[in-house]
Amino acid sequence: MDKAIAVENITVLGATGSIGVSTLDVCARHPERYRLFALTANSSVVELAAQVAQHKPRYAVLRDPQAAAQLVTLLKEQGLHDTEVLSGDEGLNAVASHVEVDTVMAAIVGAAGLAPTMVAVESGKKVLLANKEALVMAGGLFMEAVKKSGSVLLPIDSEHNAIFQCMPSQSQQGQGSHPLAASGIRKILLTGSGGPFRQTPLEQLATVTPDQACAHPNWSMGRKISVDSATMMNKGLEFIEACWLFNAQPEDIEIVIHPQSIIHSMVEYVDGSVLAQLGNPDMRTPIAHALAWPERIASGVASLDIITTATLDFEAPDYQRFPCLELAVQAVKTGKTAMVVLNAANEVAVEAFLNQQIRFTDIPVIIRSVLASAQLVEPSTLAVVQLADQQARDLAQQQVANRACA
Ligand code: NDP
Ligand code: MG
Repeated sequence: MDKAIAVENITVLGATGSIGVSTLDVCARHPERYRLFALTANSSVVELAAQVAQHKPRYAVLRDPQAAAQLVTLLKEQGLHDTEVLSGDEGLNAVASHVEVDTVMAAIVGAAGLAPTMVAVESGKKVLLANKEALVMAGGLFMEAVKKSGSVLLPIDSEHNAIFQCMPSQSQQGQGSHPLAASGIRKILLTGSGGPFRQTPLEQLATVTPDQACAHPNWSMGRKISVDSATMMNKGLEFIEACWLFNAQPEDIEIVIHPQSIIHSMVEYVDGSVLAQLGNPDMRTPIAHALAWPERIASGVASLDIITTATLDFEAPDYQRFPCLELAVQAVKTGKTAMVVLNAANEVAVEAFLNQQIRFTDIPVIIRSVLASAQLVEPSTLAVVQLADQQARDLAQQQVANRACA
């Protein structure tokens, strides 16, 4: 007789985003395993209403109270009476910690994801972490909270999910505190495609448009992470994320450019073995992996055609072309709140670029300048982290204003 599987109640923070939509797709393939208990967004009323109609969650949360009021009206008009609408930070925190929730997909973009993701961790939920900014800003506090609550943390970022898959079980279960050397691991090879501007002549970078920056050659993603991929700040944030997730030092991680995005990262062992995880570039694979771990479930991703793929290329990163990468690696080495400042300045600069207030090449200039002027302190509490985040945002906004006027 088949073993009965208890249905897992899932909260999806950031349900209307790129990761959120992929998560709903995977969950809907396995209704016997997963129930979408709560879906959240910031202000996308129509998109969230459509998801409510399809998945019938117990709760729908919009952070923006006005949007939440509109959602109440819309659901009433559509006869969807079984979903309760919540709003604000309280609404997000309530569904991240609800006693009936087993698993939280943390897929809000940017610093806004930190607080509700921390609430999920502190409530001891299984947390599927896409929101890398939470770890970049508060990695020490975050990993401490994971240990304290006994929460299970599984990486969704494709590279970190790949590294996790290439690690032995004692490292997988070590929750970021098992030493790499104790598992015989020599180094982590963190791969990145190099984004849309890997070969663009350097002098053209000053005039690239937001749409060009968001046209990633291999992955379809939200606009913020797409710009991060174009500057390679995304790889820098991932470098920091990997340090926290795998108890690694900066010198344990090598960044490798792999333009095809077929290998999603590798782990090298002391005997010379290098294990890699391969697959089509589709986030439903790491999402399905983390949802079912340690089991495996279908994700809807097509089989990898290795013959058509044929060639896998690798090259060293070009720090002159991608100054954001160097700024991120340097921020880990600097420590204190340097990573908070880096992240905040990046978020402000990327938004300004997307709004066409600054040039693409202004992004690293602004981040460097904010890092040089910000006062760095020990990130000892979440309140300290949030204050450093706000101060860095203010500094970055001034830089944006100066450049926008120039
Ligand atoms: P999107 O921009 O596509 O989606 C963001 C989601 O977060 C939306 O549901 C949005 O709601 C919600 N949101 C935005 N701001 C707030 C806020 N202030 N409060 C509450 N909710 C908010 O992002 P992605 O799905 O691309 O990325 C999500 C996270 O996953 C990021 O941290 C990213 O780095 C990470 N990631 C993404 C990958 C990808 O392939 N996309 C790959 C690896 C990691 P609304 O629709 O209302 O704006
Ligand atoms: Mg990634």
